[in-house]
Amino acid sequence: MKDRKKFDLVFELAKTLGGAVGASRTAVDQGWIPYSHQVGLSGKSVTPRLYLALGISGSAAHLAGMAAAEVIVAINNDPGAEIFTVADFGIVGDLFEIVPALLERLNQHSAKTSDQDGRAQDE
Ligand SMILES: Cc1cc2nc3c(=O)[nH]c(=O)nc-3n(C[C@H](O)[C@H](O)[C@H](O)COP(=O)(O)OP(=O)(O)OC[C@H]3O[C@@H](n4cnc5c(N)ncnc54)[C@H](O)[C@@H]3O)c2cc1C
Repeated sequence: MKDRKKFDLVFELAKTLGGAVGASRTAVDQGWIPYSHQVGLSGKSVTPRLYLALGISGSAAHLAGMAAAEVIVAINNDPGAEIFTVADFGIVGDLFEIVPALLERLNQHSAKTSDQDGRAQDE
């Protein structure tokens, strides 16, 4: 995720989806997020319905904490990244292009949905 400021993108996506932010040890070591959010061998094990792995290489130590998630979606610009061996859906590309585009679509969708809800209540 490059730096603390860019890591905010993860918080923004989690907020939009109503999710929680977990992190690799790399992110914790960089000081971008507290250790209590670390997922993996020396962190927490999580089994969410959906796990979005953003720029996660897929080290054995990280997989130990999340491979049991129901659905794993990975975004990584390295087609050979280990995370793709456990991902149900994989996107090879730059997360700094893909995540903002995803956020835009999600925001459009929720604006449309709340507009429809508003009209249904009016009727
Ligand atoms: C005893 C021990 C315990 C450990 N415990 C844990 C643990 O609990 N949890 C844990 O996570 N790790 C743990 N580790 C560390 C682990 O081995 C890895 O170093 C760590 O998981 C790597 O984190 P990462 O995938 O975030 O970073 P990296 O390995 O640096 O991977 C970054 C990935 O991001 C991709 N990328 C870069 N830029 C972009 C971009 N713009 N768009 C898309 N993709 C991009 C790269 O292709 C790469 O695959 C432990 C290690 C040891 C020795």
